Amino acid sequence: MAETGEMSESRDLGAAKLVRGVLLGAPGSGKGTQAARLSKRLGIPAISTGEMLREAVAAGSDLGRRVEEILISGALVDDEAMAEVVRNRLVEADAANGFLLDGYPRNQEQAEKLAEILGELGTQLDLVWFVDVPKEELMRRALARQREDDKEEVIEKRLELYRKVTDPLVGYYGDLGLIRHVDGNQPIERVTEAMMAALEIDCPADSQAEPQPGAEPGVKSAEAVEV
Ligand code: AMP
Repeated sequence: MAETGEMSESRDLGAAKLVRGVLLGAPGSGKGTQAARLSKRLGIPAISTGEMLREAVAAGSDLGRRVEEILISGALVDDEAMAEVVRNRLVEADAANGFLLDGYPRNQEQAEKLAEILGELGTQLDLVWFVDVPKEELMRRALARQREDDKEEVIEKRLELYRKVTDPLVGYYGDLGLIRHVDGNQPIERVTEAMMAALEIDCPADSQAEPQPGAEPGVKSAEAVEV
């Protein structure tokens, strides 16, 4: 019987690979989808702060009530609240052997806070994937999605916020030698493979560096993405 992609992927469950990673990318870059796929492949949890906040809203918790309006508006929740959400999640047992952070950090303050939280836990990030998708494709994908906070002006606001405060993290993590650039404008399976391949590639200290000779074709050097 022919195996589906899903089935062959689930074979990797149980062979957990210790990776402490962040997925960076604009809204609509597909990083949430990729985080879920990598989670299966690597056997480590995908931690989506957006998802956690939406769950808090749905559950009507204190946090949920505090952030509901912010989520609807497309603005960012304050750094302090986010640090608490992330810290509480990272101390859970399943994150001890690795995690994939999706949606956090969102700005430099959060990136520094994350380093502090991980330092307290005696660990640090291994890598940051930057899922690179052209602006027009981001807009097309975002408009095709059907989430409550995906009204057109909200999409614009989220893209603008991303460009202003999150995109600079590519440079920040590049300087730390942690960035892996991945072409996100290709079929889902190819993006996953490029991200898996990036795990094996030494990261150039300079995020603007040319790809290493012989590097996986899906893993690209930095090409500034205007979002
Ligand atoms: P996302 O699903 O990652 O696009 O997140 C949905 C919404 O949750 C965002 O538009 C923000 O309002 C909020 N949010 C998620 N992660 C963060 C974060 N790291 N910092 C601030 N707000 C966040």
